[in-house]
Amino acid sequence: MSILDNYTDFMVKQYENFPQSRYLTLIVLRKAESEMIFRTEGSGEGLARDSVHAGLEDRDVISRVTISKRKQTAVERRTGRELLRQHNLLFYAADSRGNRPEEKENICALNRNKPCGICADCMIYGYAVGGGGAQKSRVITDDAFSIQSYQTVTAKRTFNALYDNNTMRDPVSGEASSSIQEDEYVKPETLFIDMQTLKDLTSDEIRYVLANVLRSRRYGAISSRLGKMRNTIVGAIFSDCEIFSNLELTQRVYDRLGSDGRQFPLDENRVTSEVVRAVDNLTNEVIGSLQSLTNAELIELIGEIQQTFTSPTAVKGLLESITELYPQG
Ligand SMILES: [Zn+2]
Repeated sequence: MSILDNYTDFMVKQYENFPQSRYLTLIVLRKAESEMIFRTEGSGEGLARDSVHAGLEDRDVISRVTISKRKQTAVERRTGRELLRQHNLLFYAADSRGNRPEEKENICALNRNKPCGICADCMIYGYAVGGGGAQKSRVITDDAFSIQSYQTVTAKRTFNALYDNNTMRDPVSGEASSSIQEDEYVKPETLFIDMQTLKDLTSDEIRYVLANVLRSRRYGAISSRLGKMRNTIVGAIFSDCEIFSNLELTQRVYDRLGSDGRQFPLDENRVTSEVVRAVDNLTNEVIGSLQSLTNAELIELIGEIQQTFTSPTAVKGLLESITELYPQG
């Protein structure tokens, strides 16, 4: 018996072609655990940020650092795909005649334009191929916002681009380098609030997505210096409609923190309890049928997933039972 069995009304039993209005929204607190750079290192590009109101009540305009939805899901998809690959559950892409030539270059891979369209990743996170076949992502995400302002959570570091001889002096011309570059980074212990809405997923598909979020640790620019990030699921809400936005939640939390919201770093425990309260507040305003997992249920659900992942056989079983649900074209 799984905790999810109590919420069968909000999940589908098998993969459905048509939308069923069954939603599960995960509230994720993302914490930077090292310096994070979300742009190509040395490119001089700044971090992505948006000017928004500080809170729903506090109407000051501040800049917040954002992590794009694409950057977040790309990391989590890779985490899941690694598992699928391990268990031979990524398939060969179909050609125009519907055959699936078993050639190495034809295997389902991200951004290679050869999605197989029948693996858990394609079917949950979506795919599209020119000329036919597409699945809309059933994991709906939004940009994640830093709770605090851009000025509070970022810093700049200059670094010198060294020559072969490990100095700033050009070994050929003997001239001093003028190449001092600057990178903007997000400080360790910066907190981001994020929501992922899972639409019309089965209980096993939900477990797969949850595991991907919990098991992903490296985010940021794809270079030698990906930053470490820890994701904590602080809420899970079943509903028959989409609920509030990520920005609204971030602003509500900021209001609730009051003057403590200006101290860096924030106390993670305090933030977690304010997120839970803000979610309660905001769900009361939604017009629809909603059911939130209690904290005890959430802990139990995460425990179930941890348990599954202690056993490679159980993981294989989970992945296989998901894959079996899809029409194998
Ligand atoms: Zn695929």
